[in-house]
Amino acid sequence: MDLAYTEAEEEFRARLREWLAAVLPSLPAKPSPDDWPGRRAYDTAWQRMLYDAGYAGLHWPVDAGGQGATPTQHLIFLEETEKAGAPYVGANFVGLLHAGPTIAAEGTAEQRARWLPPVLRGDEIWCQGFSEPDAGSDLASLRTRAVRDGDHYVVSGQKIWTSHAEVADWCELLVRTDPTAPRHRGISWLAMRMDAPGVTVRPLRTLAGSTEFAEMFLDEVRVPVSHRIGAENDGWRVTMVTLSFERGTAFVGEVVACRRTLAALAAEAQANGGWDDPVLRRRLGRLNAEFRALWRLTQWNVSEAQSSGGVPGTGGSVFKLRYSHARQELYEAAAEVLGADAADLDREWALDRLSSLSYTIAAGTSQIQRNIVAERILGLPKGR
Ligand SMILES: Cc1cc2nc3c(=O)[nH]c(=O)nc-3n(C[C@H](O)[C@H](O)[C@H](O)COP(=O)(O)OP(=O)(O)OC[C@H]3O[C@@H](n4cnc5c(N)ncnc54)[C@H](O)[C@@H]3O)c2cc1C
Repeated sequence: MDLAYTEAEEEFRARLREWLAAVLPSLPAKPSPDDWPGRRAYDTAWQRMLYDAGYAGLHWPVDAGGQGATPTQHLIFLEETEKAGAPYVGANFVGLLHAGPTIAAEGTAEQRARWLPPVLRGDEIWCQGFSEPDAGSDLASLRTRAVRDGDHYVVSGQKIWTSHAEVADWCELLVRTDPTAPRHRGISWLAMRMDAPGVTVRPLRTLAGSTEFAEMFLDEVRVPVSHRIGAENDGWRVTMVTLSFERGTAFVGEVVACRRTLAALAAEAQANGGWDDPVLRRRLGRLNAEFRALWRLTQWNVSEAQSSGGVPGTGGSVFKLRYSHARQELYEAAAEVLGADAADLDREWALDRLSSLSYTIAAGTSQIQRNIVAERILGLPKGR
């Protein structure tokens, strides 16, 4: 990938900066972290603004409703929106960053026309129903079953850790459609309405006190067969596409956010005298180098994804592994700079520090990413 920006890309950047400077001051105040209906309204309103201005689904293919922008333009978009302090995708996370791209890559023309425009407009929110009480890292052992009844599946089982379930309209749901097949072969990927009869959502409280995710109980929920993405029992392959988006590109905007946080931390250290400590300065310097390297890796991953038809490769696991640890180290350094303030739960720093702990678990734990790197990138033998 050519890392130098062309004149056209710089023009794109300038136009975007101008637009951000014009619209951001008019945004309402951010809702509190636990105000989920408020957060949904805020995040979807921002998504609608992006859509109306032609910035929604920037890098999605044009025939999936996107703008067909180059990977570099997409990265410029992420960089500039973060630098300007624009809202994050937030509640739209699953729809925009992995369910939508999966449907764009694997869905039929009708499915793409049905589900993608509302995601891009911010009209519909998605959540992810993959994990179960006994199927997290070992996802293929999932037990939620779907029994065919005419042109419907009847789905029963339990999901857990379903982020944003409380405010979602749709769920990307993994179910077992053939209990007799080898575990990886009898799975299907369904789009399920969250207001369908038989769906019960029970919020779970996180370490930071917020109700970020939920348990989901499914009792004979009827899902039309036409809501299946990919062939029946071929859901594991479709899931690998979803996970490659989740690990490969879904976190890229956050790297820029971490660089902004690091700059704020350095400023705070300079103001409170912490900067005089050479050990702390070295620590912040190393983090700066780490996030710069991660940004370069991001550019490489996005470019690779584009050249392989839009689906990211296993390089995303390297990124996910390093990024999730670097994020934790960033908030550890913050605790050192801020002292007692870092534990003050009324300050965003404290909540971000607690939530940074979850990054080495969500979207596949670090151990699992290491397995993937060892087996699929380095070609080492599989463990017993
Ligand atoms: C903030 C957050 C949001 C999440 N959101 C969602 C969501 O929206 N939807 C969803 O479906 N899920 C979600 N999850 C769930 C997440 O994907 C799982 O927690 C994750 O896959 C780990 O599974 P587990 O919790 O069952 O742990 P387990 O699989 O039980 O693992 C326990 C420990 O054993 C290790 N381990 C397990 N197997 C191996 C192995 N083969 N080799 C080496 N080590 C191993 C793991 O690395 C881990 O340290 C979320 C999780 C978090 C933290």
